[in-house]
Amino acid sequence: MILEVSQLNLSFDQKPVLKDFSFALNKGEIACLLGPSGCGKTTALRTIAGFEQPDSGKIILNGKTLSDGLTFIPPHLRHVGMVFQDYALFPHLTAAQNIAFGIHKQSVDKRQQRVKELLDLIELADYGERYPHQLSGGQQQRIALARALAPKPELILLDEPFSNLDADLRTQLSKEIRQLLKKENTSAILVTHDQHEAFAIADKIGLMSAGRLNQWDTPYKLYHEPADIYTAHFIGAGVLLQGTVTDNQCIQLPVGTFHGPLPSLYKNGDELHVLIRPDDIVYDENSLITAEILDKDFKGNYFVYTLKINSGETISMQIPAHYNHTIGSHIGICMNLEHLIAFSK
Ligand code: ATP
Repeated sequence: MILEVSQLNLSFDQKPVLKDFSFALNKGEIACLLGPSGCGKTTALRTIAGFEQPDSGKIILNGKTLSDGLTFIPPHLRHVGMVFQDYALFPHLTAAQNIAFGIHKQSVDKRQQRVKELLDLIELADYGERYPHQLSGGQQQRIALARALAPKPELILLDEPFSNLDADLRTQLSKEIRQLLKKENTSAILVTHDQHEAFAIADKIGLMSAGRLNQWDTPYKLYHEPADIYTAHFIGAGVLLQGTVTDNQCIQLPVGTFHGPLPSLYKNGDELHVLIRPDDIVYDENSLITAEILDKDFKGNYFVYTLKINSGETISMQIPAHYNHTIGSHIGICMNLEHLIAFSK
């Protein structure tokens, strides 16, 4: 384990911003703190970096206590690298000089070798002499990462590193940065409010809600095994429909029947909230269950239809693009739920 954060509490002006915030990161792992605006992601990152002092709790990096009731190691002594939202490259220094900034105490030879190694790693070997304004946003981002990696920190923290880039570049760069961090075997924590970015880059995602860590898990588990309704709503698309457990181990829903197996704690007559994602609903022209198309979004190879079902609730359905039904028409649907995600009411 490289980082242990336990029971952090921090308030600004008596307003709690981090509440009993705890997680552990394994060596070489990339984690993402995800959550809505204002939930405390940046504050958590800044506290780990040492820019904020917690009211209580403990931070241990590679066996060394960085912060607890007795100890507070300042940021520059933590062996933690930071990449900021705006890259914060020095405009009067070249890309190579920016990368070399954090290793100025090393010999000239060692420094040049590390800068070359990093420029090669980020595939900008020919760009070392350029100034930041002569580089694209994505290139500046990679230089900022190389600068943070140069001193071989034990941990890299990245605060919304892709927020200044357009959507396509964000996904591409998330993957590239993941590969770079893995090649250097550097542990990292990244802050984002974009779950697609988190899915592309992270081994573990910490979903935050009002200063607390709601769930700390792999992206796959967060999506397929959300711990509670908050996570289920936040991750992926979907709606919660009311279901009733019936006596033959099934759940009756307004869009069909889910035929078990059900967890043993469910009893006949139990009322549940069941998560229905857009790909759990399929078009079936012979189905007796119908729904009205309220809206449709063209996504290229598929549509997402917004449907009003007979219970009056609204659901989404993902449907291949050749099914181009008109808004306002009624279509037959059936439920194709492989994996039950349900919460007791
Ligand atoms: P975003 O996604 O919008 O960047 P975030 O999840 O990173 O949000 P934080 O920036 O950590 O959220 O802020 C959490 C809360 O703490 C907010 O209510 C914010 O207003 C407050 N806050 C942050 N920094 C300070 C500060 N220095 N002084 C007072 N309050 C602060």
